[in-house]
Amino acid sequence: MSSSATRTGNAPAGLSPRAVVTDRDIAAAYAIDASLGSTAPDAYSVVRARDRADVVEVLRHAQEQRIPVVPQGARTSLAGGSTASEGCIVLNVEALDEITELDELERFAVVQPGVVNADLKKAAAAVGLAYPPDPASSATSTIGGNIATNAGGLCCVKYGVTADYVRGLEVVLPGGEVIRTGRRTAKGVAGFDLTGLFVGSEGLLGVVTSAVVRLVSAPDPALTVLATFDSLDAATAGILALRRDRFGPSLLELLDAASISAIQQMADYGFPGDCAAALIVSSDRPGHTSEDVQRYASLLDDAGATDVAVGDDAQESDALLAGRRALHTALEVKGPHFTEDLCVPVARLADLIRAGEEISARRGVDITLSGHAGDGNVHPCFFFTQGDPDSQHQAQDAFGDLVVLALDMGGTITGEHGVGTLKKHWLARELGEPELARQRALKAVFDPLGIMNPGKVL
Ligand SMILES: Cc1cc2nc3c(=O)[nH]c(=O)nc-3n(C[C@H](O)[C@H](O)[C@H](O)COP(=O)(O)OP(=O)(O)OC[C@H]3O[C@@H](n4cnc5c(N)ncnc54)[C@H](O)[C@@H]3O)c2cc1C
Repeated sequence: MSSSATRTGNAPAGLSPRAVVTDRDIAAAYAIDASLGSTAPDAYSVVRARDRADVVEVLRHAQEQRIPVVPQGARTSLAGGSTASEGCIVLNVEALDEITELDELERFAVVQPGVVNADLKKAAAAVGLAYPPDPASSATSTIGGNIATNAGGLCCVKYGVTADYVRGLEVVLPGGEVIRTGRRTAKGVAGFDLTGLFVGSEGLLGVVTSAVVRLVSAPDPALTVLATFDSLDAATAGILALRRDRFGPSLLELLDAASISAIQQMADYGFPGDCAAALIVSSDRPGHTSEDVQRYASLLDDAGATDVAVGDDAQESDALLAGRRALHTALEVKGPHFTEDLCVPVARLADLIRAGEEISARRGVDITLSGHAGDGNVHPCFFFTQGDPDSQHQAQDAFGDLVVLALDMGGTITGEHGVGTLKKHWLARELGEPELARQRALKAVFDPLGIMNPGKVL
């Protein structure tokens, strides 16, 4: 352990004991996030806030001294959103991790930003309610980070994204002023929707220190169908049929041929060798899961599935999901890669996947294209050879080719991971300069000196 204190010593005095990280190695862990190529800058400080007063003090001091601040939760950002920037104070709020209120009648919880997503789900389930937003990082990512990235996940096809569950926020602004946005009530239209503005703002406007989040009735334990296809067209027909169903699924995931091959290379999950695509489909509709999955199975049959397996109970359903769950590990085993996040209209999903296959063949880059089919949201992974800059450039160019096509299809550069540092050069292309100018002007209203998460998004 090094005795050298913070790298720049630019954190304010007067914080809670041990809030400033003084160990160089520990500080280094807070300088990077989960995105590819995330590296620590030369100089930065790390503050692990213990309470709101610490957040206020850091933002007061930072504004006074014009020091950049990088708000931070669990650092699972895949877009480089929570990586330290040169000369900044990393302001980590994981220790603000209390659920301060849970109102069963009004159906909301008031939570601090460091509450882990899965812990909020558990607390809601304990009183027969549910907090639906479910990023695959649910076991580690925080509600503050989920709000700042408007996180999605596997069940958005039925339940929507984080924004659909945030009623109100407490935010500390640069300079230390504390504002409250939104409401606690089920309805409310008083004034502009500043809550909506902060959701997905990637730490560019202020630091969320508390949130009122909506809870819903608990669903039934989900039942699941796994269908395999020998053509992408048939799988797409299945997706469209499920989207048209009156009681559509709570989960609708697609694995493409390249992902299935990566999963099968790790272990035998029972996918046939010539499988072009697989769909995993669930229902959690109270009292109707069994009839729903039977109906989904027959829709998938009609669409041309080669094999359809229906889980009769939670255990069988879990087994049918095992291949999908193994995807992340299978991709890690396959080799060095970066994971991207594109969203297109559902009807264009097959076009996007075919385009990915064409780019892969043309550029000689291995690409997998799986994801949340029900939302048209895929997470393409681009593989490269570690230590070979040419191979890494090829992978990045392949991603560039796919982004352009996704935008032409009416899609977006990010469905749920955010813009961060990795996608900021694509933002103008999607939004256009006039909107981007309004976005910059909005940021200046809250952060006139531009100290919040500089170098990210805009
Ligand atoms: C294995 C894995 C799976 C993933 N799966 C999904 C998925 O299914 N869906 C999905 O949407 N994302 C997914 N992600 C991405 C990531 O988990 C989400 O973006 C998540 O919401 C980030 O939460 P965090 O607590 O780690 O935030 P961080 O990474 O620490 O921060 C993310 C952004 O939020 C800002 N921020 C954090 N806390 C605050 C705060 N209190 N106030 C203001 N700004 C703040 C940061 O500045 C940064 O811009 C995945 C990541 C991994 C590693």
